[in-house]
Amino acid sequence: MSTEMWTRDAVIEDYPRSERVKVLLDQANECLDDIEHKVEPQRSELQAAAEELVENALTRVCRVCGCTDNDACQPTPCYWIEPGFCSKCEDEEG
Ligand SMILES: [Zn+2]
Ligand SMILES: [Zn+2]
Repeated sequence: MSTEMWTRDAVIEDYPRSERVKVLLDQANECLDDIEHKVEPQRSELQAAAEELVENALTRVCRVCGCTDNDACQPTPCYWIEPGFCSKCEDEEG
């Protein structure tokens, strides 16, 4: 059903780090475009999916390096300093 279009998106690690935020936001936009052609309850589902994708783009992908929970920086695994900003990037910024 309609959920298939964003369960695929859970595998953001398939994309290069530099493109992950953009990919998530593009997918959110696709959901919002699709809403035009839908009726309830699909509209609500797509709206929720879009919001979740944006949330993920802002909080679950490092805005500097693109790492994620499932693809942490190496060799020392990083952790979140704040949503969307990891410990390795904080170290590099000094
Ligand atoms: Zn980072
Ligand atoms: Zn990191």
